[in-house]
Amino acid sequence: MYDIYGCDKMDILEVQKEVREIVGPKRITTEYIDRVFYSRDLSVDPTELPSMVVLPKTVEEVSKIVKIANKRNIPIFTFGRGSTLLGLRVKENSIVINLSGMNKILNIDTASLTVTTEAGAVWLAVNATLWKKGYELSSQWHGGVISSTMGGAVAANAIARTSEPGTQVGDTLVGLEAVLPNGDIIKTGSAANPNSAPFERYALGPDITGLFLGSAGTFGIITKVSFRIRRKRNKTEYLSFSFGNYRDAVEAVKNLQQNELIQFALLVQGALPPEKENLLHIIITGNENTILRKKELAETICRMSRGKPEDPENTRRFWETYYYSWLRGMPTRYYYVRKGTPYFCPEVNAYFRIQDLPKAYDAFWEYWNKEKSADIKRVKGVLKGIDTFFTYNGGFIWFDPLFPVKDKEAINVGFEVRKEMTEKFMDLGGCPAAISSSSAPIVFSRLGTTYEFMKLLKKSIDPKNILNPGVLFPEVL
Ligand SMILES: Cc1cc2nc3c(=O)[nH]c(=O)nc-3n(C[C@H](O)[C@H](O)[C@H](O)COP(=O)(O)OP(=O)(O)OC[C@H]3O[C@@H](n4cnc5c(N)ncnc54)[C@H](O)[C@@H]3O)c2cc1C
Repeated sequence: MYDIYGCDKMDILEVQKEVREIVGPKRITTEYIDRVFYSRDLSVDPTELPSMVVLPKTVEEVSKIVKIANKRNIPIFTFGRGSTLLGLRVKENSIVINLSGMNKILNIDTASLTVTTEAGAVWLAVNATLWKKGYELSSQWHGGVISSTMGGAVAANAIARTSEPGTQVGDTLVGLEAVLPNGDIIKTGSAANPNSAPFERYALGPDITGLFLGSAGTFGIITKVSFRIRRKRNKTEYLSFSFGNYRDAVEAVKNLQQNELIQFALLVQGALPPEKENLLHIIITGNENTILRKKELAETICRMSRGKPEDPENTRRFWETYYYSWLRGMPTRYYYVRKGTPYFCPEVNAYFRIQDLPKAYDAFWEYWNKEKSADIKRVKGVLKGIDTFFTYNGGFIWFDPLFPVKDKEAINVGFEVRKEMTEKFMDLGGCPAAISSSSAPIVFSRLGTTYEFMKLLKKSIDPKNILNPGVLFPEVL
């Protein structure tokens, strides 16, 4: 059996033998059930089964496996914990490398305020270890922290729960170690100097760290990461306000952002009673001396934009217990299983400038209630909600429709909605992040010479298209 990579069944059996010699018999599996499990992320996009799943323990093992894949023309797909909904599509006759076995915290440097971990360490576990020492990651939260690996957060460019300048996941990344598609091992930032350590990203030439951020595993396999940390903030306050319309809520957040009052603001719509539409959740962190003053100012700003105070209990539960359902005060099952029907979520997202958010919001409702309404109703699609994460100068709209997962037609309409809404967002100046197989062709086809440049980079460092083929770049470049 041949595929575009020109490897046959015999090659694959040989490769399994060679990889087994590298990692030993216990850290490679060819069992059907393991191959099914590692054939996709949390999405329902079509995919294929890999030939083997490997759990390396060291960067040297990763490098050796990549060299074999190169010699034999066999694609490699990289997994952290597979917690994205983006449509990571695996191919037949491929190797899945699962980084979750490389999960050690290697160094906490409280003098230069950095933490270095292996790429498979889980975000929440790293943060919890730091908390015990009185520190925390400078980029505090994103929704997937329970399962997200540190390397996965970098590769997917995870969107953090932060409105503070300089605290998005990428802003706080100091450097990394990666295995390139030819098997070479590189370090970025100050750690590239063998006599130094990972403490400064912008040293020793171009910002190579940035190349891996959001690269979805196409430029290299990240094996170590170093992030900025800070003293743990010892006080958190919560506020919640409802607004008569989206514009008023956005105006309030613009003023909160410009006065640097909040750690994070999140606006939710959908699946709420009409009087609670446009519910703004505000998280304020700091110390005892400053926090009450910040809270008072934030309340004044919200009232000036006609906000009505609400009970902040759901805000607190959302922040402290990580569940999205509690934003709306509902149990999780309300979203994904209604009347016994399981749903899937073909999510659509994009960053917008603060002043462009209202027109993106209007465009969404026009599409959902008018343009696409008949198709959506026919297949019983529902809206889980629209959430706007506010950054320090804009917002990240997260639009979550739900479609019955057991109905083929409903799945197709769900995919159409994802495609058409992504196109609409791009038309309106939106910039999707966390891109993967499903959204890449739509987004990148609009980037002209910028995409040509990305392809040129990919082609020069991965001429055989070994790493995550088809995830950002076409399978045959
Ligand atoms: C309840 C819930 C809430 C979520 N909320 C958010 C949120 O607020 N913000 C957000 O951004 N995401 C969110 N997500 C999505 C997801 O959790 C994050 O994007 C997370 O960072 C992915 O980590 P992972 O280790 O599971 O990566 P995976 O899903 O395994 O991988 C993601 C991509 O990165 C590549 N990759 C993974 N590890 C490496 C590596 N070491 N080297 C090279 N490439 C690699 C993979 O090939 C893939 O293309 C949420 C998910 C869930 C289930």
